[in-house]
Amino acid sequence: MKNIVIFGAPGSGKGTQSDLLVAHYGFDHISTGDVLRAEIKNNTALGQTARSFIDRGQLIPDELMINILAATYDALPKTAGVIFDGFPRTIPQAEALKEMLAQRDTAVHAMLELDVPDEMLIERLINRGKTSGRADDNAETIAKRLEVYNAQTQPLIAWYEAEGLRHAVKGYGDLQEINAALCSVIDAL
Ligand code: AMP
Repeated sequence: MKNIVIFGAPGSGKGTQSDLLVAHYGFDHISTGDVLRAEIKNNTALGQTARSFIDRGQLIPDELMINILAATYDALPKTAGVIFDGFPRTIPQAEALKEMLAQRDTAVHAMLELDVPDEMLIERLINRGKTSGRADDNAETIAKRLEVYNAQTQPLIAWYEAEGLRHAVKGYGDLQEINAALCSVIDAL
């Protein structure tokens, strides 16, 4: 049972690559963004709270997000492994994930980082916005999300490096090549 964090800026391809890894390894996939969007769609109280942050390109508060993550994780069958996509996004979230998994006698086995230049991220997100229907894929919110990523999420690179778990791969070019690079890290675990 592997616990794998897929990491990168908004638009770095975490969702796309997670889908390929799920198909290849039979992992379960937790996308915290998808969990929140489902809550918004169902118009739950949590969804209403989440929407106010998401629409402004801001992060949902750590404590709330950590509780959602733990509940989602505990509800999974957990067979081959779990991919964490979009979580952690802050150092307190990474610390909470480490503690949550330790309490369940397991750990994060790898952090897979997708490296994509900023200008490519913006182009990808603007293009995605044409078809995604996501309210946060517009120029203004994209700029805010990248700013939030640089300030709050990017420091996790050094955090996971210090944990000895960071594996960075080139996140642009051929999709299958990116996937092969991720698979070779996973196969070596
Ligand atoms: P994503 O689909 O991963 O790009 O997430 C979309 C939005 O959901 C983000 O811009 C945040 O507002 C919110 N979100 C998703 N995951 C988290 C998280 N781990 N912590 C805080 N906010 C999150």
